[in-house]
Amino acid sequence: MNIKNYINGEFIKPTSNEWIDNYNPSNGEVYGQIPNSSKADVENAYIAAKAAFPSWSQTTLEERSRILIKISELLEANLERFAEAESKDNGKPISLAKTVDIPRAASNFRFFGNAITQFASESHESAGENAINYTLRQPIGVVGCISPWNLPLYLFTWKIAPAIASGNCVVAKPSEVTPLTAYLLGEICDEAGLPKGVLNIVHGLGTTTGQAIVEHPDIKAISFTGGTATGAHIAKVAAPMFKKLSLELGGKNPNIIFADCDYDDMLNTTIRSSFANQGQICLCGSRIFVDSSIYEKFKADFVEKIKQLKVGHPSDSDTNIGALVSKPHLEKVKTYIEVAKEENGKILCGGNKVTVKNYENGYYLEPTVIEAPSDECRVNQEEIFGPVVTIMPFDNEDEVLQMANKVKYGLSATLWTNDLKRTMRMSNQLQAGIVWVNTWMMRDLRTPFGGVKASGVGREGGFEALRFFTEPKNICIKY
Ligand code: NDP
Repeated sequence: MNIKNYINGEFIKPTSNEWIDNYNPSNGEVYGQIPNSSKADVENAYIAAKAAFPSWSQTTLEERSRILIKISELLEANLERFAEAESKDNGKPISLAKTVDIPRAASNFRFFGNAITQFASESHESAGENAINYTLRQPIGVVGCISPWNLPLYLFTWKIAPAIASGNCVVAKPSEVTPLTAYLLGEICDEAGLPKGVLNIVHGLGTTTGQAIVEHPDIKAISFTGGTATGAHIAKVAAPMFKKLSLELGGKNPNIIFADCDYDDMLNTTIRSSFANQGQICLCGSRIFVDSSIYEKFKADFVEKIKQLKVGHPSDSDTNIGALVSKPHLEKVKTYIEVAKEENGKILCGGNKVTVKNYENGYYLEPTVIEAPSDECRVNQEEIFGPVVTIMPFDNEDEVLQMANKVKYGLSATLWTNDLKRTMRMSNQLQAGIVWVNTWMMRDLRTPFGGVKASGVGREGGFEALRFFTEPKNICIKY
């Protein structure tokens, strides 16, 4: 299968005619090729976006909204096809793609299709001075959207939908590792009547295609989700051009469990927050801190439940843990299991590659729990981004708060307790952009989404995203 770039409403080959192999993580085989796009392809995408901008930015909100909602409906109508593609490309269980990834991609378009009709700007009356200020929220122009491989269509559309809803035209790049659903999205956009050039999708490597988007002097804003090191590099390249930047980066999120929580609910949710999507979600609670009074019980129950999880082929309906996204990523995650051993961490379960019958070359790994000797060891400080969590006991609130905050990241935190005052105290002091109490990954798309410290700058979601993709202009009139 040859994936093509989607530029100016057409599916086209890369100008260089160079291609990159695309692997199926479930069996390690090459099953297609994607364009190895160059600067010239990014330039062509930019030219198409620039040409589409005057008309798209003047399209009525009702019309933009109608098209976005149509895209959402078409994604829902094609749920099976998209879910199969996502699962094949990424290695995630088909059940997850069907219930989370693709429905959420459809929701992103529906949500921003509706949100743009409710977005408003401010007016300030300067009392006593016979003047009124009103603020316009104007689209920026051509913007760049760059997304990672873990939730491919989900995160790709989380950027594109608000960008086009607010009247911008887009040059977008999905991860080279998971390009398939982004490619299929082009067909849906055509069918929904999105004008040519409003969305342009360029496939290729981060270091060349992605870099060309970030370096382009006339792509005025970059919305990026990915690793912290890449985010720092992008900030360095974009800053001298004064580009607007939204950076959603890595995490090393604490999951803090107090003895007074609803135990069964906590246990079931902690299995999910540890291993959903093979642990490859930036929001996974990869550092589990447990009240020492229930530590031994939790440890035994947690490990017993994990041993029941089925690691298997992504298309099997009873698979809980599919394949990791790529061979290099599998190797990286395995390295951390070795690091844990060197650091005197105790592997409570997992730690080994899994061989799935008939798919022996797939990238499967057992869900792994490491009892960590200290909160400062590498496996408790560095983002592993796989089916690997650490657990540690704590004795009191101050101690766990200190450990929770003692990382460079600050994306999300989860707290399990029924003590209201403790909830308020801890939520105030946790260094994170998102705190979940007695739940995990419950999302209301209106809420601000993003992290602090090395987890990024800026917020996505709701009107925050529409603010990012528009430029405020204040007009002061004296009368
Ligand atoms: P990367 O940072 O490697 O890549 C993210 C995207 O950036 C990919 O499309 C990549 O292309 C591209 N890219 C790489 N180098 C450059 C460059 N120099 N210029 C422009 N674009 C570039 O992250 P991963 O794909 O490995 O994703 C995993 C990371 O993403 C984890 O750290 C995770 O925590 C984070 N993440 C954060 C989320 C959040 O909301 N905060 C959500 C999900 C993930 P290519 O793949 O082709 O190299």
